[in-house]
Amino acid sequence: MLALLAWAGLAQAAVGVKGVRLWPSADYSRITVELNAEIGFKQFQLKNPDRIVLDLEGVEPQPALLEITGKIAAQDPYIAAVRVALNRPGVTRMVIDLKQESRPQIFTLKPYGEYGHRLVLDVYPAAAPPTLDKQVESAIAQAEQTNKPADKGAAPAKAGKSEMMRLLTVAIDAGHGGEDPGALGANGSHEKNVTLAVARRLKAQIDRQPNMRAYLTRDGDYFIPLHDRVNKARRAQADLFVSIHADAFVRPDARGSSVFALSEKGATSAAARWLAKRENDADLIGGVNIDVKDVYLKQTLLDLSQTATISDSLKLGRAVLDELGEVNTLHKPHVEQAGFAVLKAPDIPSILVETAFISNPDEERRLTDDAYQDKLAAAIVTGIKRYFDKNPPLARSRVAQSF
Ligand SMILES: [Zn+2]
Repeated sequence: MLALLAWAGLAQAAVGVKGVRLWPSADYSRITVELNAEIGFKQFQLKNPDRIVLDLEGVEPQPALLEITGKIAAQDPYIAAVRVALNRPGVTRMVIDLKQESRPQIFTLKPYGEYGHRLVLDVYPAAAPPTLDKQVESAIAQAEQTNKPADKGAAPAKAGKSEMMRLLTVAIDAGHGGEDPGALGANGSHEKNVTLAVARRLKAQIDRQPNMRAYLTRDGDYFIPLHDRVNKARRAQADLFVSIHADAFVRPDARGSSVFALSEKGATSAAARWLAKRENDADLIGGVNIDVKDVYLKQTLLDLSQTATISDSLKLGRAVLDELGEVNTLHKPHVEQAGFAVLKAPDIPSILVETAFISNPDEERRLTDDAYQDKLAAAIVTGIKRYFDKNPPLARSRVAQSF
């Protein structure tokens, strides 16, 4: 009898929790529960105080799950605390105490790469996201104050005297983040941390330019789906989009910087196609709720405006690649093209910069070096300025965004 009870207990505990991870951010806070099997779950919300109740079926309270209670960051904008307890036989209840009224999204992810089955809870603010982030609002306010006739030195070649120098916004996208570490370095550094460090330096350098402001699609360690990065850049009314990455290859001697643009037809090389697939897989690793529909995700046909945008992207890419050639060897002497999902803004020239190979021990060391990160950022800024000098953006009135 005792043996039978013990056996029943084991069968009940068949679903093991491999780990729990928390990714708080200003955009949303995520809880990931990684399991060794798919589970059923039920979820509901309660008010006064605001909380989310999540019942995990076939899961016992176990140390790996109970750990979550001690992992909530004090500065988490959405989650105050998490409580875990056995609710009834075979069902563990998680209660997520909220700091504000929230809109939860709960979904499961199938095993991918290193990850097993995942149950993901994303806690968004209840209010619809603001049309413009605070970051952008302040940039636009400054632009309106400083919009003045162009300085002699900064004037584009063809500027007439009536032309105003408007503030140029560059969206900088630090690749990967949160659940998606990106490529792993030869000595263990994560691409997601390198991309964020370089992106922040790039933003600081761009913000020092008199007529430019930068906008970061993420400024923390959390994941943003690829189409959301594009949407954020469009909401910011960005003139350019620059996605920062670090390359990896099985051969540790692969080295050099590369720049990519979107392709209208197939990829320009097998390597570019392979890389685009790997970068696009970020959504599978980082975790996207596929129930949330988005037009850009499904966009397969490129329209005429996209053709013009790609032509500009190639010019921007060429200018940036030339400058990167001053601080690093180039992996390829020309801008390559492939179907990168993150470069699909139909109206914003967009490039993806593989700064260097994080899988190369020598380049990994430089990628994690402050001074070298600044050099990379400086090269990208110089390339962007050269592009703007030759291709001054048109004056633009702010129009209502329809997305
Ligand atoms: Zn990457």
